[in-house]
Amino acid sequence: MPFDDPIIIIGAGPTGLTAALALGLAGLPVMVLEAEPGLTHDLRAGSFHPPTIEMLTALGVGDAMHATGIQVPIWQVRDRVEGVVAEFDLGLIADETPYPYRLHLEQHRLTPMLLDRLQEAAPTVEVRFNAPVESVAIEDDGVAVSVGGGEPAALRGSWVIGGDGARSVVRKAIGTSFDGFTWPERFLVASTTHDLGQHGFAGAGYIADPDDWAAVFKVPDEGPPGLWRIAYPTDPEIPEAEVLDQEAIQPRLAKILEHVPGKPDRFELKYASTYRVHQRVAGRFFQGRAIIAGDAAHINNPLGGFGLNGSVQDAVNLSAKLVEIWNGADAEPLLDLYDRQRRPINIKAVQAMSIRNKKMIEERDPEVRRQRLAELAETAKDPVKAKAYLMNSSMINSVREAASIT
Ligand SMILES: Cc1cc2nc3c(=O)[nH]c(=O)nc-3n(C[C@H](O)[C@H](O)[C@H](O)COP(=O)(O)OP(=O)(O)OC[C@H]3O[C@@H](n4cnc5c(N)ncnc54)[C@H](O)[C@@H]3O)c2cc1C
Repeated sequence: MPFDDPIIIIGAGPTGLTAALALGLAGLPVMVLEAEPGLTHDLRAGSFHPPTIEMLTALGVGDAMHATGIQVPIWQVRDRVEGVVAEFDLGLIADETPYPYRLHLEQHRLTPMLLDRLQEAAPTVEVRFNAPVESVAIEDDGVAVSVGGGEPAALRGSWVIGGDGARSVVRKAIGTSFDGFTWPERFLVASTTHDLGQHGFAGAGYIADPDDWAAVFKVPDEGPPGLWRIAYPTDPEIPEAEVLDQEAIQPRLAKILEHVPGKPDRFELKYASTYRVHQRVAGRFFQGRAIIAGDAAHINNPLGGFGLNGSVQDAVNLSAKLVEIWNGADAEPLLDLYDRQRRPINIKAVQAMSIRNKKMIEERDPEVRRQRLAELAETAKDPVKAKAYLMNSSMINSVREAASIT
C-alpha cells in the first residue's frame, strides 16, 4: 500500500458519502467520521441536475434514486399575481444527457442509498457514527484527527477530506478564508400534502413577488402523490418558534398562492423548518494533506438547486484525483487542478446563478421586474435561447467547463 493510513473523511452527508463511495469502489481504505448518531434527516436540498444524476449513476445508486425520485422535465417561473411567466422544458437538452429532467429526491433519501451501496460494494470503507471531530492537524506525511464525544480517539489519516459542512473543522485547519455574505432574511421551508399540480404547477417553480416570493418543489412522500415543498423568506427578527407556528405559516401560503384558482382554504402541513442562507466560497480548497469539498468549501442560496449538486460534483472530481495520487501520481499538481476546476466555476456559475435567481424573483422595482420576467419569457419561447439557458441552469456547462481546465 502506498500510504500507511486510510483516507479520513469527516462528515457522512452527501459530499462525504459520495467521496467515500468513489474511493471505496476503487479499493482505497477510507474511514468516515460522522458526529451524529446516524444519518441526518432534516429538510435540505432535494433536486438533482443531469450531470449529478450521471455521476451518481456511475457510482451505482442511479436505479435506487430513480425508484424513489420524481422526474421533473418542466419547471416554471411564475408571477405571484399573474401566474406562469415562463416554462422551461428540459426535453430541449435530451441530446446532451440521458437524464433530461431534474430528479427530485431529498438528500435524506439519498444518503441511506449511498450508505447501502457502500455496505454492498465497498468493503474498504468504514463509517463511524457518534464521532465528532474536534481538531485536525496537517502534518508533512499525513493528518492527525482528534475525535471527541463518548468514544474519544486520536486517529491518523494519510489524507483528510472535509465533507463536514459549512462550519468545517478541516477548512479551519487549512486556515483559509470563507469570503462572501449572509442574506438578511431567514428562509422557511414547509411541506404540504396539498397537490399543487392540480392548479397547473409544474414539479418545480419559482414565484416572483417583492415580498411573497417563493420556490415550490414536488418531492417524494411515503406514497403518491408526493409532497409539495414551499420555501419563502421570513423576518429574522421574529423568533423562530413564531414563524414556525402553523397559524403563521397558513396565511403566508395563502398569500403566496392567493391568485391560484381553486386553492384550498387551509393547507395540511407535514414539516416546516427555517434556515439562514449564505453565499461564501473558501479561499482555497486544500493545504498539504487536507482538502475540502461541498458545503465546507462553498455555500449558496437554494434558488436553482445548486448546493447539493455542486457538492456531489466536488466529491466525484476530488475522488478521481485521490485515486491517481494513491496510485503514485504527484499530489500537488492534481490537488491544484481540483482547486482550479472547482473553485472558480463555483464563483462564476453557482454563486452568480443563485444570486441572479434570487434577485430576479424578489425584485422590488416593478419596471425592472416586468422587464426581467419579459426577457425570461422570451428566452423560454425561443428553443435555441431556451436550450442555452438550460445548459447553464442544469449545470451541464459548468461541469463541462471544469473538465476542460487542465
Ligand atoms: C437547512 C438547509 C436547507 C437547504 N436547502 C437546500 C435546497 O433546498 N436546495 C439546495 O440546493 N441546497 C440546499 N441546502 C444546501 C445543501 O443541503 C448542501 O449543499 C448539502 O447538504 C451539502 O452537503 P455536505 O455533505 O457538503 O454537507 P452537510 O449535508 O452539511 O453534511 C455535513 C455532515 O458532516 C457532519 N459533521 C459536521 N461537522 C462534523 C465534525 N466536526 N465531525 C464529524 N462530523 C461532522 C454533519 O453532521 C453532517 O452529517 C440546504 C442546506 C441547509 C442547511
